[in-house]
Amino acid sequence: MALYICPKCLWKEKDHKYPRAMAGVITLRFKNGHVWTFPRLILHYIHDHNWLPPKDFVDDVMHGELLLYSSTDLTIGVSREIGFFCEDDLVIGELSDQFINRLKLLIDEEDQSSEVLRYYGPGEK
Ligand SMILES: [Zn+2]
Repeated sequence: MALYICPKCLWKEKDHKYPRAMAGVITLRFKNGHVWTFPRLILHYIHDHNWLPPKDFVDDVMHGELLLYSSTDLTIGVSREIGFFCEDDLVIGELSDQFINRLKLLIDEEDQSSEVLRYYGPGEK
């Protein structure tokens, strides 16, 4: 699992709500066909640096419904990758706490869905 480190943080900065380095990538699939792939570090970018993700992503998080692995419809659209920054290309903007809470909820939902897949692999029940 790859480790992502925030390029905006200085080594000594420690007063952030979310850690400046996190391992792992999340893919959220929505029922409208949108698929987003991003590092877990996205919460740090949004909360601690006021990063503004693409409008489509904000809309999906606020109003979309997840298509989970446990769902029967596994049609997958083309995944859009966001939040893989290498330099100073953060777009700054304001997002509500409601957005962050909802994004966390969706990430948890996706995590739990993947857990289910792990425990009930092919041939298991
Ligand atoms: Zn940072």
